[in-house]
Amino acid sequence: MMDPLFVNALEKVCGAKSIRAAEDLAMQDYGFHAENLGATCAVRPTSTAQVSDILKLCNRFGVSVVPQGGLTGLAGGAVSNAGQVIVSSARLLGEIEIDPVNRIAHVAAGTTLEALDHEAHKHGLCAGIDIGARATATIGGMIATNAGGSEAFRNGIMRNRVLGLEAVSATGIVMSDLKRVTKANEGIDVKQLFIGSEGTLGVITRAVLRLAPAPGICCTFIASFADTITALNMFHTLNAMSFARLLRAEIMWRDYAVQTAMALGLQTVLPAPDRAVHVAFEMEPLDGSVDTFLESLAEQLDKAGCEDVIVAQNDRERNNIWKVREDSWALEKTFSNNFWYDVSLPHSMLDRYVTHTKNALGKLHPSIRTFVMGHLGDGNLHLTISGDAEIGPLHAAISDIVYNGLAQSGASFSAEHGIGIEKRPDLERFGDAGKLTLMRMIKSGLDPNGIMNPGKVIKQHP
Ligand SMILES: Cc1cc2nc3c(=O)[nH]c(=O)nc-3n(C[C@H](O)[C@H](O)[C@H](O)COP(=O)(O)OP(=O)(O)OC[C@H]3O[C@@H](n4cnc5c(N)ncnc54)[C@H](O)[C@@H]3O)c2cc1C
Repeated sequence: MMDPLFVNALEKVCGAKSIRAAEDLAMQDYGFHAENLGATCAVRPTSTAQVSDILKLCNRFGVSVVPQGGLTGLAGGAVSNAGQVIVSSARLLGEIEIDPVNRIAHVAAGTTLEALDHEAHKHGLCAGIDIGARATATIGGMIATNAGGSEAFRNGIMRNRVLGLEAVSATGIVMSDLKRVTKANEGIDVKQLFIGSEGTLGVITRAVLRLAPAPGICCTFIASFADTITALNMFHTLNAMSFARLLRAEIMWRDYAVQTAMALGLQTVLPAPDRAVHVAFEMEPLDGSVDTFLESLAEQLDKAGCEDVIVAQNDRERNNIWKVREDSWALEKTFSNNFWYDVSLPHSMLDRYVTHTKNALGKLHPSIRTFVMGHLGDGNLHLTISGDAEIGPLHAAISDIVYNGLAQSGASFSAEHGIGIEKRPDLERFGDAGKLTLMRMIKSGLDPNGIMNPGKVIKQHP
């Protein structure tokens, strides 16, 4: 039950129609976490000024706030509980302004990645970042989680795409730092604090984003390799080609590729299912000639001794390749008791890491199966670890094996999905102690009453 005075004041700020009560929320799609819509109510402001007034009000009444976008987050950052208010970006929309001369876009936080990409394409441009949840994930959510995706090796992660940012701090201060330039050294770059903060410091309302040239004709192919090192060599060769641009390189280890292809009825997608790793590549021939490109590609593959390649001949075949890579949920339907991990490693560690981790998990419990895929270009791996009911109590031991040695070798236990609630204990264990202290100081400074997304990322007062 919320203080009626608070509810009244909230209605005055943004109108009764933009508030949804718990009963309405229960009927809504909760997205990728069953507890996302547990709050007492949700409010859908239409302007930055409204967001500011809402946050001031929440501070005054001591009500905590959970910012939400498209609810595609995978770390539980948008989970909400009774007594909390969801501040949704669903109505923070407005025109998507594309500036083709400067190759930038000015967008509101509730804009989906797909909508931005669609507008950018009208000008021969694209967002330069792509994730599987493109149709639903919002720009605000992607900035809040510092999303990565399949183009990060080429165009960087969300942090590298943001030129300017408008955000409202927990106490209601509006920072409208909507720069359209790369170079702007005007003191501490405060917007960087909001990028990747997962809604713990404030609400992101607008952004200026760099765009990239939209690819022309693309050629998608999948190649099977005997080991990761050969696959990596091919990645480097293709990435260095002067007459074609490598757009994506997505890796799947055998178990993941075979099981997902089987679950989707797409076994013919894999050139040689028995091979250890499979990589889906997408390239853009720069002179527009696919035939010339394919001849040169055949030469490069020959040189590397890679005979097992299937080139997509049409959109259906191309989509099937990406389905096998992106539809990791197909595994969920086949296997139960799954734990997910999202790590990133230097290229030199990939081969050893996957072999060692699989072996160690196999020894931990005979029912464990480890499915691995990810973004080859930047060494970001997604692991799904499945087994019978007995592996439930082994979660901590499984995490120990997956995270073993990462911190010491400059790798990361949390690559692109964020910390949310799910990895908060891991951050306490593996995060640098000094960095955690500074994080808490920043959090306390910007959110003195601890109202912004409490319980996510870090405990404010350990
Ligand atoms: C099929 C699928 C594929 C995916 N692939 C990738 C991938 O390749 N790479 C990748 O990085 N991620 C991927 N993700 C994860 C997910 O899409 C991202 O985390 C996304 O950036 C979240 O955006 P959202 O709008 O759905 O945010 P939500 O899920 O609503 O929220 C996520 C977090 O951001 C905060 N937040 C949301 N909006 C705001 C705002 N306006 N201001 C402040 N905080 C806010 C929330 O409080 C929460 O902590 C994938 C997810 C799915 C389901």
